[in-house]
Amino acid sequence: MIPPNAVYGDPKGIPLQQTMFRDTPAPFQCVYCGSSGLTTIRSKPSLAAAVGCMMPFMLGVCFLCPSMDCLWHKYHYCPSCGQKVADFEKSDPCLVMDPPSWREPSFAVPA
Ligand SMILES: [Zn+2]
Repeated sequence: MIPPNAVYGDPKGIPLQQTMFRDTPAPFQCVYCGSSGLTTIRSKPSLAAAVGCMMPFMLGVCFLCPSMDCLWHKYHYCPSCGQKVADFEKSDPCLVMDPPSWREPSFAVPA
């Protein structure tokens, strides 16, 4: 469930209660250095992506391209101190069958 007051972009200093780290840069407050902003994301191919590329049509191969990283694991890092603040792992290969949930936006809930 996504609350109606969810923040998707730069929190601009608003205190955040909770951040849901998904596929897009997430508004967050760093527990290591205290700065707030958007996370930087690094992605890694996941099982779901590997299963996706075995789908019985040519499109599947694209899942292994970084530009089609919607099924990849996402690791969120703090742009200020470089610490990893969260990971979002797509370990469920069934995701491949559910295109609407391939890319989920990250968001935060204001305090
Ligand atoms: Zn930090």
